[in-house]
Amino acid sequence: MERQAGLCCLSLCLLLLFLSCDSTPKVKVRKQSKIEIPPFRFNADSAFLFIENQLAFGPRVPNSIGHKKCAQWIVRKLKSYGAKVTEQKADLMAYDGKVLKSVNIIASFNPKAKKRLFLCAHWDTRPIADQDNTNQDLPIPGANDGGSGVAILLEIARQLQKDSVEYGVDLIFFDAEDYGAPRSHPKAGTSDTWCLGSQYWSKHPHRAGYNPKYGILIDMVGAKGATFAMEGNSMSYAGSIMKRTWQIAHQLGHSQYFIYDKVAPIIDDHLFINQMANFPCIDIVHYDPMAKNSFGDYWHTHDDNIEVIDKQTLDAVGQTLMGVIKSEGLN
Ligand SMILES: [Zn+2]
Repeated sequence: MERQAGLCCLSLCLLLLFLSCDSTPKVKVRKQSKIEIPPFRFNADSAFLFIENQLAFGPRVPNSIGHKKCAQWIVRKLKSYGAKVTEQKADLMAYDGKVLKSVNIIASFNPKAKKRLFLCAHWDTRPIADQDNTNQDLPIPGANDGGSGVAILLEIARQLQKDSVEYGVDLIFFDAEDYGAPRSHPKAGTSDTWCLGSQYWSKHPHRAGYNPKYGILIDMVGAKGATFAMEGNSMSYAGSIMKRTWQIAHQLGHSQYFIYDKVAPIIDDHLFINQMANFPCIDIVHYDPMAKNSFGDYWHTHDDNIEVIDKQTLDAVGQTLMGVIKSEGLN
């Protein structure tokens, strides 16, 4: 995941604006009637354990042993929770000419239902620590960037097995999201070096005629004190879904995480899903305009380890997604 090319100046402007008058632009939300949210469960301890499980495989860099073993583990877990699992394998060309043996993993609940929504995250981790001051050539642990999104989706799968819904839910684990060109590389300005797995899926959905109502991407959703702002591409392509999701988060008591700050568009899987597949999709992503790189100081460094994870953040995001799923049939 990366800031969108050409928008660094905009980020800087937003930062300067914030520093000068302490007022980041806010998305205006009209007063909405309350959304009915049926009861649900989400266990943050379980999600935390799923991050530890992933870290035990080592970095999940495409073509590595850890990557292969982690894919097998994700598939096994999803099958054990009763999902219909599709492994979408593809050889994808990275910016440096390397062929990445990638696999998108799709877990379908209630696979025959026509009405569907999808939740997604990337499961691969970055092969380099290009934002770190040391050992930049070594891969990051990816506890938050990769690990947290997968963990929340797995916990949702575990809950859906016990507490099914009438329509279809697809949980999509994208590969090769984080193999993008570093900022020092000539191809750095090319947005499509990122999100290779979701680009492939957007051109070749796992099922012919797949036509979901909408999707929600989660990325870096477990860090202590994270804030999730209203990211520009999500607002452009699926603003009403974003506002509804934020409303559900607020009704569930998570207003400190889900803030109404309007922030610059970023390159993440949702961008290609919106542009290539034409499925409306928002991004819940840790975005901190005050951090030196907008995504938290751990981002693409060796500090992205279990120490940055907070169960309360996992809980806020997991509960919000369960609230979205459970309320979908009623509203
Ligand atoms: Zn990343």
